[in-house]
Parts: sequence; C-alpha cells; structure tokens
Amino acid sequence: MIHQILPVGPLQCNCSIIGDEATREAMVIDPGDDIDDVLAILRKHNLEVKQIVVTHAHIDHVGGAMKLRATTGAPILLNQNDLALLKMLDVQAAWVGMAAPGQVEIDRSVGSSDTVRAGSLSANVLHTPGHTEGSICVYFPQEKKLIAGDTLFAGSIGRTDLPGGSMEKIMRSLHQSVLALPDETEVTPGHGPATTIGEERQTNPFLQVTPYRR
Ligand SMILES: [Zn+2]
Repeated sequence: MIHQILPVGPLQCNCSIIGDEATREAMVIDPGDDIDDVLAILRKHNLEVKQIVVTHAHIDHVGGAMKLRATTGAPILLNQNDLALLKMLDVQAAWVGMAAPGQVEIDRSVGSSDTVRAGSLSANVLHTPGHTEGSICVYFPQEKKLIAGDTLFAGSIGRTDLPGGSMEKIMRSLHQSVLALPDETEVTPGHGPATTIGEERQTNPFLQVTPYRR
C-alpha cells in the first residue's frame, strides 16, 4: 500500500494519497488545496485516481475536489448529510480567509454500509457525525489504518461549535465507531501528527470521560 500524506492549504489539512502498488489505482482523501502538488505525487508513483473521498464538507478538506475531478475524471464521494455545508463554501471561505472555490458537486453519497476502493485496497466508510452532520472516517481493516477527518486528532477531537456540530454526537461516534477499532490501528487525523487508537484510548483527555450511553 502506498500512503502519502500531504498537508495542504493554509489550514494544513492532511490530504491522503492512497495507492495499490500492483494495479497503480488510487484514491485521494480530502483534496482541500494544492492540487498541483497532489498531482505531482500521483505522477511520481504512477497512480491513477479512481475515487475522490471527502471526510466532510469543510473548505479546507473539499476546496480542491473539483480541480482534482476535472484533471482525473474520478468521482467525488461525500456523505449526503453535509450537502447543506457544501452549498455554503463561499461563507466558509470568508470565515477562514481562503478564496471561494466555486460550487462543488458530489457524484455519490457514501455512508456506513459503503466501501471505497483503490485496486485491491478496500476501506469501510464509518459515518461519524459530530464535527459535522456528514462527517465520515475511512477504515482499511486489512492494513489497520484509519483516516479520521476532523473527528479524532492526536490528543484532541474535532470542534463542535460550527454549524452542524454536536458534542453529544461526536462523543457517540467516537465511543461507538472509532474506539471500537483495534488499539494497533494507525490513525491519520485531518490535521496534525499521526497517532494510534490505543494511544488515544489511553491518553486523549476527551476520551477519558464517562462514555456516552445509548
Ligand atoms: Zn473540519
């Protein structure tokens, strides 16, 4: 498995380029910005993008998706619960001082029963609302690798004070979906350094409180 992480844009969103070494098929997760650099990495590894996966519709994660789709022809996948946020990218651009990327269209909604693929690599989509209504994590069970978007960070969790955010929902997502994964799972958060599920289970201050109960 090829997995290259490129922090993109002014907010340094971790964009993941994931490729199958045998078939050279790839997926790009969270192409927020700096698409020329993403394309250079794809060329360097001789990869062809088959899917563009967006963990949630914040501008720093989705801002470059249309440019990447225009160049590669790959479909854009996003959970439908973030469509309202996707329609207000110009407002989001003003919040963070980025240029508005124009309208982003999605090709398919992905949720908890879906898989995303690159060649022989297959990942389960986990719908993990809380940071936004449509936030997802992408879990590769074979490789024990989680792309967490802005749901889980090393030592922290996603903020819930923006439109669509819910502390109750993110805690439920973390305890029921994310912490259900094995301790050795390698986590690539949406921003900042890598971690593991075990490390966060033991030391993340937000995960030490009494678990949300159904
Ligand atoms: Zn976000």
